[in-house]
Amino acid sequence: KQRMLDRKRREALSKIFIIKGSVTVFCRIRPFVLAEKKKISEPVSAGSERVRVKYGGTMKYFEFDKVFTEEANQESVFVEIEPILRSVMNGHNVCVFAYGQTGTGKTFTMDGTNEHPGIIPRTLEHLFHQACTDNSSYTFSMSMLEVYMGNLRDLLAPRQKCRAYEPMKKCNLNIQTDPKGLIEIEGLTEVKVSDYAIAKWWYNKGRRFRSTSGTNVNEASSRSHCLTRINIFRHGDASEAKSQLSRLWMVDLGGSERLLKTGAKGLTLDEGRAINLSLSALADVIAALKRRKCHVPYRNSKLTQILKDSLGDGSKALMLVHIKPSEEDVCETISSLNFAKRTRAIMSNKEVSMELKKQREKQITELEEEVKETEKQI
Ligand code: ADP
Ligand code: MG
Repeated sequence: KQRMLDRKRREALSKIFIIKGSVTVFCRIRPFVLAEKKKISEPVSAGSERVRVKYGGTMKYFEFDKVFTEEANQESVFVEIEPILRSVMNGHNVCVFAYGQTGTGKTFTMDGTNEHPGIIPRTLEHLFHQACTDNSSYTFSMSMLEVYMGNLRDLLAPRQKCRAYEPMKKCNLNIQTDPKGLIEIEGLTEVKVSDYAIAKWWYNKGRRFRSTSGTNVNEASSRSHCLTRINIFRHGDASEAKSQLSRLWMVDLGGSERLLKTGAKGLTLDEGRAINLSLSALADVIAALKRRKCHVPYRNSKLTQILKDSLGDGSKALMLVHIKPSEEDVCETISSLNFAKRTRAIMSNKEVSMELKKQREKQITELEEEVKETEKQI
């Protein structure tokens, strides 16, 4: 009985989390790295939920669900993400995105370093730990892929499979929808991972593959999206015949810098265009979902097609917007913050009718009472 109550409580908690809003936006400000010189008056400053940027003589303000300043470490970022992982274990699909200009710390946040592991390795560890302490039994599988100029590349593929980067030699995997509406990527390697050590081994393999196969490592990786997918199967107890599948996507998006500023030409220009197209397609999808439109334009890019079953009703998205603190990048900073503001604002009071808002508040109160009641019973 206690086990049942436990589950009831967890489910109510994750429902509250979902109702509170399907898109959460955090902002992380990168500290100055060694090669940069900090000036006395830098344009960016921040509070816990607000970023201020001095731009063109005026002060601009941006609100977020949470702001991580230069001092925030990997641990403190992960702590804020933990509730989302709870909802994945309870059967909801979740996407975590790192957005921002190249060099703002997207890869640092997602992958991190050996000394300062990022969200992905911490999440893997956390999921296995949670699975051990939970009453239900879980199995996990993992895939990694890269989206480069509309082509998909399998990062966990065995050696003999397509590894080339050239756009002409299309390493294209097909995206299909199965009868249940789940997105399947034909031929994508999916490895069963039974513990953290194995998962970490595969994850490192995917990362190495990504960084060694490009012609110019950093440049190429900044113009592709890197996606890590964890499939979580919850088997429940003997009374539940079917296992439940939920998906967690962790996405290191390509650099969002505008093309005019970079003065890109030729291939670089094409790559930049591809990135910009898919980023705006992603923004359009999020906007349509939040406005609860009937038509959601998933088909406009490979990125949104892949994420179709994990971006929608009952799913949760977390956007981590990255910015640099320095003066010379202030235009890009403003443009990233505007993107994030748009993503977040669509959900705000203007869009959500009072009726819907009241309904949600009522649901939340009911669920909170249910949580309290089950806790008492436990
Ligand atoms: P991006 O993936 O957005 O292009 P990177 O993650 O490669 O950016 O970060 C660029 C550089 O800044 C790297 O050398 C990285 O180690 C450093 N860096 C980024 N964020 C932080 C941070 N929060 N703390 C310390 N160093 C950081
Ligand atoms: Mg990167």
